Amino acid sequence: MKKFYIETFGCQMNAHDSEKVVGTLLEKGYQQVDEVENAELVLYNTCSIRDKAEQKVFYRLQQFKREAGKGKIFGVLGCVAQQEGERIFERAPHVSLVAGSASYTKLPEMLIQLEAGNRRVTGLSLDTTDTFDTPFTSRDNPHRAYITIIEGCDKSCAYCVVPFTRGPERSRTSESVLREARSLAESGYSEVQLLGQNVNSYRDPSPASWDFARLLDETGKIDGLKRVRFTTSHPRDFGKSIVDAIDENEALCNHVHLPVQSGSDSVLERMQRSYSRAEYMRRIEWMKKARRDIAITTDIIVGFPGETDAEFNETLRLINEVEYESMFIFKYSKRPNTPALQYEDQIPEEEKTRRFNLLQEQQRSIQLRRNAGYVGKREQVHVEGYNRATNQWIGRTSQHKTLNFTAADLPAPDSDKTLTGKYLDILVTRAGPNSLAGESVFE
Ligand code: SAM
Ligand code: SF4
Repeated sequence: MKKFYIETFGCQMNAHDSEKVVGTLLEKGYQQVDEVENAELVLYNTCSIRDKAEQKVFYRLQQFKREAGKGKIFGVLGCVAQQEGERIFERAPHVSLVAGSASYTKLPEMLIQLEAGNRRVTGLSLDTTDTFDTPFTSRDNPHRAYITIIEGCDKSCAYCVVPFTRGPERSRTSESVLREARSLAESGYSEVQLLGQNVNSYRDPSPASWDFARLLDETGKIDGLKRVRFTTSHPRDFGKSIVDAIDENEALCNHVHLPVQSGSDSVLERMQRSYSRAEYMRRIEWMKKARRDIAITTDIIVGFPGETDAEFNETLRLINEVEYESMFIFKYSKRPNTPALQYEDQIPEEEKTRRFNLLQEQQRSIQLRRNAGYVGKREQVHVEGYNRATNQWIGRTSQHKTLNFTAADLPAPDSDKTLTGKYLDILVTRAGPNSLAGESVFE
């Protein structure tokens, strides 16, 4: 039996792609191992969203170069593979396979070529209408499962490599998504997360032609599914019907990740984001007016080329207005092939760091204030595991907050499986900037 090792970098889409790649390999008779040293095939599923992420894979390839001499086969998958293509063979000659995510449906054929001794196998075409649907997905978590509903991206944000690395938008049929969700529920999964680079740009290619809100709502009606999440939503395609669906269907988690990137209209325009600050704020208003308390989170890029102090201050103002539950802040990183690469007036690294710190500080005080508001409330958590260092269980609320808790009335956990996967009501007793703490409530 051939042994393989895989390491995954980057977003949830990559994590889920790896689950499908692993499933395909297991089905072909391979066996997964935890150490590069014990593998015959070593795969890296890579991310190239920022320069730092891209460098990680080249560092890894360098780190294990000596292992190639022992007959191991190395493969680079995902976004760096798509972006760098055959250049990877020049930079790391011990690599034998370079394949982007749009070619994963051809993985079995590529494996045959590798097994036949071909040392330059590529899967780099973006010209596809296929999505990588496989019945062999090997899921890492027994309670929460990812479901890809749309692949690729048809937007063209000036800073972003995704349209070049993941190809054009392709939605799965609503029927195949629901079939997968039902079969997950039947096999014991209680939480699913619908995935897409822009999950809400979903358009059912079948005659049913559902939009995203309909697909979300129907998924939330499946027996056995207690929680349905989705990420990432693009503001332009975020309709009020999504908020209405969340309001009407308790199984849909009351959390929306809606990346704004900047609070300044002029920066949004230079970023080619295709919405204005006012349009974005209208969507925030829908959520603030909803019956359920919807947690809103976001992504921000600081130091986009030409961003002035006044433009950056617009972002600080927007953050105060929205009061996000949490956010990811990124320093702008120059990416190959993107229009912003040619923009003049790149912001110096120290200035990006200054803005990053200012934003982080302001957001930290917002989070402290917001989280303090949960103290004294009861929240339902889905238990994710046990932290032996702190002697606390780790739970996740519907709003996607981490709620660490103790359960005094229960026997001390012998293994972290005792409560993992269960849903419990927790009384929030303390709050920090990044998490809540509490005690389980027994009626
Ligand atoms: N499709 C989603 C959207 O449009 O909001 C975002 C997907 S992208 C994989 C995740 C995040 O990476 C983006 O929201 C953006 O904040 C960040 N990002 C993308 N390109 C970047 C770059 N060149 N430099 C810094 N951050 C970047
Ligand atoms: Fe990148 Fe923009 Fe597509 Fe999001 S919408 S993946 S930021 S190009």
